[in-house]
Amino acid sequence: MTPTFKSSKKCPHCGQWSEWNQKTTDTCEHCGALLDDRNLLREAAREAERKREKGFEIDIIEIYPTDSLPVKIGKRIIQAIQISFIGIVSFIIWFLTMLAA
Ligand SMILES: [Zn+2]
Repeated sequence: MTPTFKSSKKCPHCGQWSEWNQKTTDTCEHCGALLDDRNLLREAAREAERKREKGFEIDIIEIYPTDSLPVKIGKRIIQAIQISFIGIVSFIIWFLTMLAA
């Protein structure tokens, strides 16, 4: 089977057979609905999962040697808050994982 292989697929929406290029983005010739919305749902779920994981990612503020002392102190405070926040979030995730196990 090559990527250009063409097949037909029964539309889950109108029940008509449509040409299908094995892609999740292919739509029905008859009603215009997606032929493989199950795949698309899976893809959307994966995308949502990826975004959720990214949500926990926090960029720790960087302190540069060129920063003046008040800036350094301010950044240190922000860092402390960020690190404790990450610690709390990590603890909650760990705790939920423990509960689920
Ligand atoms: Zn259709």
